[in-house]
Amino acid sequence: MKEQQRFIDAFPTKYPVHFIEGDYDKDSFYAIAKGLEHEPEKGARCHKCYDLRLRCTAQVAKEKGFDFFSTTLTISPMKDSQVLNEIGIRISEELGVSWLPSDFKKREGYKRSTQLSAEYDMYRQDYCGCVYSYNERKKPSPRGEGGPR
Ligand code: SF4
Repeated sequence: MKEQQRFIDAFPTKYPVHFIEGDYDKDSFYAIAKGLEHEPEKGARCHKCYDLRLRCTAQVAKEKGFDFFSTTLTISPMKDSQVLNEIGIRISEELGVSWLPSDFKKREGYKRSTQLSAEYDMYRQDYCGCVYSYNERKKPSPRGEGGPR
């Protein structure tokens, strides 16, 4: 979070960009993850997690009268952009706030993100965020995969 704020302050943009901190609501996360603890990343637990986070984002966008809500998650090769966009559209229809569809991986978006991370000396976490992804990432891989993403 601190890295994100630092990057927003340092990166030149055409229009102002502001950081809004969401609530740290671990109880809601563990409630949706219950029974899905052993799902692989991109699986059913993640789909519920996308829904939880995008719903919070949409709610803030609605309260503040923003034109759209969206997510940067589609830049990650570990995230399913199609599922994210489907969930975004569904929440958009439920809450009445527009969804901005994306697949930021396209046109070398992921490569660009790694270049910007290097340029701005940013920390890149090598797991998604929850304890399950952390445990999964720490497992030895026969192909030697791992590292920042
Ligand atoms: S934090 Fe990441 S790995 Fe964990 S459930 Fe959410 S999307 Fe999946």
